[in-house]
Amino acid sequence: MQLDLKDAAKKLRAAKKIIVTAHVIPDGDAVGSSLALYRMLRTLKKDVRVFIDDTIKTTLSTLPDFDRIERPTDGEKLDADLLVILDTQPDRIGGMRQAAEGIPILNIDHHVTNSGEGVDIYLAPEAAATCEIIYELSKILRVKLDKETATCLYTGIVTDTGFFNYANTRPSTLRAAAKLIEAGVEPHKISEQMEKKSLADVQGEIDALQTMKIFFEGKAAGLFIDEELSKRIESTEGFIDLIRIIDGVEVAFLLHCKAENYCRVSMRSKTVDVSKIAHKLGGGGHIRAAGCSINAPFDEAKMIITHAIGEALNDQAQPSES
Ligand code: 5GP
Ligand code: MN
Repeated sequence: MQLDLKDAAKKLRAAKKIIVTAHVIPDGDAVGSSLALYRMLRTLKKDVRVFIDDTIKTTLSTLPDFDRIERPTDGEKLDADLLVILDTQPDRIGGMRQAAEGIPILNIDHHVTNSGEGVDIYLAPEAAATCEIIYELSKILRVKLDKETATCLYTGIVTDTGFFNYANTRPSTLRAAAKLIEAGVEPHKISEQMEKKSLADVQGEIDALQTMKIFFEGKAAGLFIDEELSKRIESTEGFIDLIRIIDGVEVAFLLHCKAENYCRVSMRSKTVDVSKIAHKLGGGGHIRAAGCSINAPFDEAKMIITHAIGEALNDQAQPSES
């Protein structure tokens, strides 16, 4: 059922024991919103735990209460009045699905591809980040934001907007950010922390750039991290940003072979709705940033994703019939 934010706040107020979780392959928004909500609920004297069932990149490890994040153990059965799923739909929370089975769900998200099927959901696709929603929620819950909680929220907002560069940045995003800075956030420190790369990461970028291919008369650019290259690369974070800036490129994508017959796709776009491409392939995301998994060998996955992007570019070029 679609809820408004006040209803979501009511559900949080009514619950005593709450579990907060977010998506696998967690980004700054997933971790930032989880930790911020965890801290807010603690101020409201709730019995609250925060789980993310994946490894979390080290740049996020300086976030307040990062060490409170738990992972469910095999076969573990959790008990709570409410499971809050942030920044994704309920099928992207890894082992938390099983571990928290049967607990009533409150889903809070900003992904347009979230169908909201079968759960209580507050969905705001216009929000730049789930952290922007959690900031609004703090006002309804009348929780005063301290510097630490504000830092978590600001981190999610800047990582999901590319430091206010992307089209999802709206006036209320900047107003929220301003309030968070008033609450004590030090923007330059967060930027430095988020932009930090190891020497190995930069070497990885150099190697990845060697794989770049241009398609469809310069309208698409792809990076291809095969199994061999994957072994030398710790994280592909930010790689796609190196090619999405190329003049004339409408869709930038990265194909990453994670295991035999398992590839991950990231897409960024200037015009084409890449959430539709991702959705068709079983993934999701936003109009200008989306992703999916392809269960196929690397070369086959390469063909599948290139073909799907070509089709989308073609559809865009055709005037619609209606
Ligand atoms: P990224 O390329 O940074 O991994 O993901 C871009 C956006 O698409 C993010 O908002 C992310 O949550 C979403 N996304 C990426 N992969 C998937 C996926 O497999 N399924 C869904 N539903 N969303 C995804
Ligand atoms: Mn997000």
